[in-house]
Amino acid sequence: MEEYTQYLNGIWDRNWLTNNGPLVNELELKLKEYLKVKHMLFLGNGTIAIQIAIKALGLKGEIITTPFSYVATTSSIVWEGCKPVFADIDPHTLNIDPARIEEKITPQTTGILATHVFGNPCDVEAIEAIAKKHGLKVIYDAAHAFAVTVNGRSVFEYGDISTSSFHATKIFHSTEGGAVFATDSELIKEMSFLRNFGHNGPETFAAVGINGKNSEFHAAMGLAVLKHIDALLAARKTQAATYDEALKGLRVQKQTIHAGAQWNYSYYPVIFESEELLLRSMEELNANWIYPRRYFYPSLSTLHYVERCETPVSDSISKRVLCLPMYHSLKKEDIYFIARLLLRAQNN
Ligand SMILES: *Cc1c(COP(=O)(O)O)cnc(C)c1O
Repeated sequence: MEEYTQYLNGIWDRNWLTNNGPLVNELELKLKEYLKVKHMLFLGNGTIAIQIAIKALGLKGEIITTPFSYVATTSSIVWEGCKPVFADIDPHTLNIDPARIEEKITPQTTGILATHVFGNPCDVEAIEAIAKKHGLKVIYDAAHAFAVTVNGRSVFEYGDISTSSFHATKIFHSTEGGAVFATDSELIKEMSFLRNFGHNGPETFAAVGINGKNSEFHAAMGLAVLKHIDALLAARKTQAATYDEALKGLRVQKQTIHAGAQWNYSYYPVIFESEELLLRSMEELNANWIYPRRYFYPSLSTLHYVERCETPVSDSISKRVLCLPMYHSLKKEDIYFIARLLLRAQNN
């Protein structure tokens, strides 16, 4: 709070609250440096980031996407007047299965919107090959993938555009916030107009824009958190290792992480053998004031506003997956307590 307050003093001194202010610029610079990426734009949230990405690439018609993500991935497609077409996920990586993407391509398909689920990078090489072959654009919803690399390169630099979320629940956050990343500077320029009502001058407009920008107060929170990001990431890795140890004997499936990835351990998903066992486990935890999230549930192919399609893997996993508590001050003994409750639920 003291570190945040220091930034607030500066905001009061300058009387500059929003509209591409100095803290927004500083955050963008520091993030580019930290993540080793060429370009990024700080935005109001991760949902407007997806919408701006779809708009900037001019996607129309059908977008092939994953049914296993947060609702914003699908709703952004619908909000932009496009049709989400779901390709089922791989049961091990929990990411969109490239083999299922090709089956879904039609003459109306213009793009692929895939999520790096729980920060686990998609099969970016296979997706790139499919996109090239069929002339499709690729957007990655990388909301969970802060600081993740694939083959030594930031995961945010894959695809035509990557989007991220800096919402308070994410490992790096600015209270509310988000970003778009692209290696093409023209595309970044276009998106910088789009995030600011289309302005390319005080009285001129390059395109139909939206208000996607973010404020000095949010940038201040981002700067304050960024100072501690290495400690935040290190703690998550230790906590994940503690869970691994504590959960021995629990019959759950874990996510398979991309072999070339440096992962961020920001979530701890476990997949139970049945939904019944998941519900029993949640009940046991809730009775002890522990509230894990059914993340992601339900499968997005079941939303009432999309065309139904068969995604049996996603349907099955979303009913059985639970993200166990993960937060910076989570103590080792709490993890062991959670594990004991889960084992009790399983063995009862
Ligand atoms: C959090 C999240 C979003 C939405 O980001 P907001 O910043 O909350 O708008 C989109 N996709 C995924 C996968 C997310 O986890």
